[in-house]
Amino acid sequence: MAKFTANPALEQELAALIAPHIHEIGREVERQAKVFAPPTKKWITVADDHVRPTHVAAHGQEVPDNLRFKINSMKWDRDHRGVGALTYMKAPRDESSRAVANIKNCRCHAQSIPDGISRNIRTLPPVITGSKVTVKVIATGEWVIPAEIGTLYPGNLEAKGAYYMARAAAAVAARR
Ligand SMILES: [Zn+2]
Repeated sequence: MAKFTANPALEQELAALIAPHIHEIGREVERQAKVFAPPTKKWITVADDHVRPTHVAAHGQEVPDNLRFKINSMKWDRDHRGVGALTYMKAPRDESSRAVANIKNCRCHAQSIPDGISRNIRTLPPVITGSKVTVKVIATGEWVIPAEIGTLYPGNLEAKGAYYMARAAAAVAARR
């Protein structure tokens, strides 16, 4: 029986040869992840003297579209609606947050930012270690993990994961 063992120098040459192809697969995953990535949303008040303090504090808060804003609770809601220190809203006036006082007469809106997450996804250059080629596609930012896999808020409020990285990898794998 013949047995072929590539010498280490040849393995390294082969690794260098295939590295650009592995890099291209990584970039394909990156492009697909950018398509699947949810937008982010930003809490915006009308910025006049009548905005309640809990919403003044929320002005400019940005979260992925599948997650909830964290809003300081109002006393009435804490006393009567069983919310804790924070109220978790998908959008201004979100009744699923269980707030009443904190949504009444609210004039805020959520501004959508389409590339809020996708702009933070990129592919790192290939790294060759011996005969191994590694390419990483990364997403950076404070909400990358909960945006991907979802999260659970107090009071059993669930945010489903968007799984944009996992779905991108699966889609590219299926195409090849
Ligand atoms: Zn408001």
